[in-house]
Amino acid sequence: MTDIELTEKIKKKAIELGAGKVGIGEADRCDRTPFFYTSPYTIMKDAKSLISICIPYPKGSLDIPTDDPYVFVSTFGNIKNTLHNKLREISIGVINLLNKNGYKGVSIDPVIPIDERRWMACMLSHSYAGMMSGLGDIGMNGMLLTSEFGCKIELITLFTDAPLDYDSIIGGTIFNGFCKECKKCVEVCPAQAIDSMKKPPYTIDLNRHLWGIQGWIDLSKIEVPPEDWINAKPTVDTVIPKYRGRYPKIKEYDKWRDEYDDVPFCLKCITVCPYGEK
Ligand code: SF4
Repeated sequence: MTDIELTEKIKKKAIELGAGKVGIGEADRCDRTPFFYTSPYTIMKDAKSLISICIPYPKGSLDIPTDDPYVFVSTFGNIKNTLHNKLREISIGVINLLNKNGYKGVSIDPVIPIDERRWMACMLSHSYAGMMSGLGDIGMNGMLLTSEFGCKIELITLFTDAPLDYDSIIGGTIFNGFCKECKKCVEVCPAQAIDSMKKPPYTIDLNRHLWGIQGWIDLSKIEVPPEDWINAKPTVDTVIPKYRGRYPKIKEYDKWRDEYDDVPFCLKCITVCPYGEK
């Protein structure tokens, strides 16, 4: 039987602990999904519900110069790290509440190890889980867009065996409305990684995207990746050694990525996105 009272308690608890918004969906909505990754039942055999929690970036924290990596990691990198730690704390608070009520809970960390052969995650996409929990819709830039904070958020996902009250899915509504008129992220992406003719979660070209977020644009001062990078198969791993030789400073970017919770070195499609701005 759906536990409406516990659902309300969970949402209240997460907000009290600092969450911006909480969405709850049926765990089954994340089974057999496009890139997925790992079934919720692999993570928790008797999972019933999915809980998505987001926390917004403080206003102004994304309006920073991105052309100086030292400034970038010590501002955005630190804030990203702090928000991730906050989400970890919130998830533990929610799991404790579930445990007190006789249920189990497991959280999937905000930083998921990347397996490029299975797109951006080897476990799950927090954005996809966010859409399945009714938290928002995946926009043209591949990020979860929430009506309150747009895509300027960080996310964590939990699975539980508690039978909670599910929010409705709003997938497609923002993409087919606001995004179709806007397309600012498509225009601004220096690597031309966003294809407005496709539908989420297929709008992003992974190879082009990696050129931006791994820091190669900064290092090479070349915005659109070279042909061999764009066409690299099965992944860009086949050409990365060549570029590492050409731009050895990438080692510093690797170190920062480890240190600052997988910090991406291009944020343009996030900072330009007007959705959710009052
Ligand atoms: S920038 Fe515009 S098109 Fe891109 S995700 Fe945001 S609202 Fe959608």
